[in-house]
This record gives sequence, C-alpha cells and structure tokens, in this order.
Amino acid sequence: MSDGMRRISADVCVVGGGPAGLMLGLLLARAGVPVAVLEKHPDFLRDFRGDTVHPSTIRLLDRLGLAEGFLDLPHRKVGQLRLTIAGRTYQMVDFTRLPGPYRYLAFLPQWDFLDFLADEAANYPHFTLLRSTEVVDVIRDGDAVRGVRAQGPDGPVEVSAALTVGCDGRDSAVRRVLRMTPREFGAPMDVLWFRLPRRPGDGDGLMMRAGAGRLMLTIDRGDYWQIAYVIPKGGYDQVVARGLAAFRASVSELAETLADRVGQLDDWEQVKMLTVQLNRLERWHVPGALLIGDAAHAMSPIGGVGVNLAIQDAVATARLLAEPLRAGRLTEGDLERVRRRRRLPTVGTQLVQRVMQRGVLDVLTSGEQTAPLAIRLVGRLPVLQGLPARLIGLGIRPEYEAPAPAPLLDPSA
Ligand SMILES: Cc1cc2nc3c(=O)[nH]c(=O)nc-3n(C[C@H](O)[C@H](O)[C@H](O)COP(=O)(O)OP(=O)(O)OC[C@H]3O[C@@H](n4cnc5c(N)ncnc54)[C@H](O)[C@@H]3O)c2cc1C
Repeated sequence: MSDGMRRISADVCVVGGGPAGLMLGLLLARAGVPVAVLEKHPDFLRDFRGDTVHPSTIRLLDRLGLAEGFLDLPHRKVGQLRLTIAGRTYQMVDFTRLPGPYRYLAFLPQWDFLDFLADEAANYPHFTLLRSTEVVDVIRDGDAVRGVRAQGPDGPVEVSAALTVGCDGRDSAVRRVLRMTPREFGAPMDVLWFRLPRRPGDGDGLMMRAGAGRLMLTIDRGDYWQIAYVIPKGGYDQVVARGLAAFRASVSELAETLADRVGQLDDWEQVKMLTVQLNRLERWHVPGALLIGDAAHAMSPIGGVGVNLAIQDAVATARLLAEPLRAGRLTEGDLERVRRRRRLPTVGTQLVQRVMQRGVLDVLTSGEQTAPLAIRLVGRLPVLQGLPARLIGLGIRPEYEAPAPAPLLDPSA
C-alpha cells in the first residue's frame, strides 16, 4: 500500500536552487554524478537578489562552453564604478583594466541567470530539479546524514543521498536542523532597495553617491535604475517614521537627476528593506552533509560578490568531490578539503568587507561633506582603480577548473 511519500535517490541531494545550488547541480550532472536539486519556490522569479555576474564567473562559463549562450541573455555591461561626494565625481573602480576578454560586470536579473543554468543542467540525464519542494529535515543514519525530508507540491518527499549539500542561503534550513551556528561579525547597515525609471541623458553605469550622512548606489539596469539606499542597522522604522516625502527629498538631494521622477515612490511597498548579515561557519560539514555559499558564509552586499563566491564554492565542491562520489568512496576528509580550499577567499573577502563597512558607517554617522584622502587619491591615479577591480571582478583565488565531463554515451552502441 502506498504511504503517499515520493521517494527519490541520488548520489547528491542539493538543497536550494540559487547560484551555488544550480551551478553545483550542473557541474556534478555534467561529470556523470546523479544529483537532485530541491528548490522551495516554483520558479526563480524573486526580486532583490544579487544581480551581478562578475568576470570570474563569465570566464568560468567560457571554460564550460557556455559564455556565448550566457551573453546572449539581455544584460548591461558596467565597466566602472564612480563615487560622487560633495558634488565631485571620482572614478573608484575600473574593470576595463582587468586581463582577459571579460572586463566588465554583467548585470541581469538573477532569475534569468538561474533559468539559464537550470536549462543547461537539464541537458544532462543525471540532473533532476524538484521545484516547489521545501526541505524540512535531514534523514539520519546514526551520526551521518543520508538525505532529506521535504514537502513537495503533491505531498511529502524523501531524497536519499550519499551527500547532502546545503545551498539554501543565509537562513539555511539544513544548517538549522544540523544545529550548526555561524559566527556573526555584525554589519552596521541595512539596505533599502527600490527602482526608478532611467531616462536618456541620465548617464549610465554604476554610481555611488554620498553626502550628509547618506549613501546610495544607483545601478544602470537599462530602462530603470536599481537603487540601494544604505541606512544604519535597524534604522528602517525611523526612516518610515520620518515619512515618504522626507525619503524622496533625501533621494533627490543625493541624485539631483532623479528629482523629476522620485515622486513615483508613493508607497513604502515599493521600497524593500534588506537586512545585511556577515557571518561564517567555522566547520562546513558533518558526516554526509556539507554547506556552501551563503549557507556557510553570508556576505555583505559590499562589492556585490556574494553570487560569485557562491558559484566558486560550487566549482571547488564539484571538482574536489566528483571523483570520490563516482568511485563511491567519499570521506569526511574530502568534505573538509572543500572548506580548506574556500577558506582563504571567504575569510579574505569578508575581512575587506568588514573594513569597507566601517567606511560606510563613517559616512552614515559623520555627515562628512568632503571626500577622504584615500578616495581622492584613487580618483586621481587610474592605476589604483585596477586593484579593487581585481578584488571585486576576479576575487581571491578564483575557481575556473570544473570536473571533467562524463563521456557522452554513444547512442549507436
Ligand atoms: C541587500 C543585498 C544585496 C546583494 N547584492 C548582491 C549583488 O549585487 N551581487 C552579488 O553577487 N551578491 C549580492 N548579494 C549577496 C547574494 O545575494 C548572495 O551571496 C547569493 O545569492 C548567495 O547564493 P546562494 O546560492 O548561496 O544562496 P541564495 O541565493 O540565497 O539561494 C538559496 C536558495 O535556496 C532556496 N531555499 C531556501 N531554503 C530552502 C529549503 N528549506 N528548501 C529548498 N530550497 C530552499 C531559496 O529559495 C533560494 O533559491 C546581496 C545580498 C544582499 C543582502
């Protein structure tokens, strides 16, 4: 008699179809490792996610033979980041100084990128994607994790797997049920996220504006500006209490060109509050389970590097684990190798973000009206603009080497 439970087995169960989960699913399936990716939403259509794809990721896609298809997706290329402070504009980051053919950030809605990865992965017979399937617990065998329990669109689902990888983001359910607690470093800010139309003559690219204790980033998204307005941590209620008119005035003061359309913000519903976190696990695995991406280390939005770090974690995981998985001899030592490989980029990037966050806090609290010396110096010396471009665009120890693809089956054999 059927108990209504859907049962699936795979070598690897990936929890979460974000950048880390889908890239891992794609690379493992391509390497011939049976993998099931479980995503709690029916689609990838969620706004307010990291929408940047950095040169390191485009290079990786190039190596996988996917760059052409990726670059066919509608996107905006951004080559520089400029900062306007006290009415003067300084160029801070110049991606055109990077080596190689991809010398820009590509901006596109994250769902387009995730759809692209999912479509690509679906070409491999070893790939399964279960949408609308929310993982609620892990299956245990003594101390070891042997898969997950989930709630699917038609009822409960059990996936048994030699390895479960939690790619379920900074509020990871896998991490919670495994009682793994990240070390918090704190973030002094939160971000208000909204859109305004972009018009001819507005300029383009990526522009940061600071002044009178405020900081705002405008991102050129073609026909609109995606805007990140930075507020002190926990300051949302205060901003709302001051009223929408005061908020609009503040946006116009920072970006005069937007004053003619800021009136379109007539409801707080249009302004989303995103809580910033910065944390990481000291240990990324238990027997049978591993955490990567934001589940292992939530990144601050500074530098917009979270998506790329998540993808690089996935590449390292696939490369280090594909062979032991195929051979059926995965050990805890293999899982620890993933953390060891990714520790330097994670710790190094978070360190830089923590230093930068202090700078943001200074802007938010001091109301300083002149650009600090360091900013004036970088603005004047173009060679210095290549350093942050490297850190943001390529990152620390980028991962380009995916596991070898499994040989294609000969249909005539
Ligand atoms: C305000 C803000 C702005 C940011 N801007 C940028 C940026 O511009 N560029 C950038 O690179 N990064 C940015 N980031 C960071 C970036 O969004 C993350 O680092 C990145 O998305 C992490 O990828 P991930 O795959 O690890 O997790 P996520 O992208 O969080 O994906 C996790 C997935 O798991 C699914 N999931 C969750 N729980 C379950 C469950 N129980 N069962 C099944 N599925 C589940 C979710 O639906 C989701 O699809 C920003 C972050 C913040 C807070």
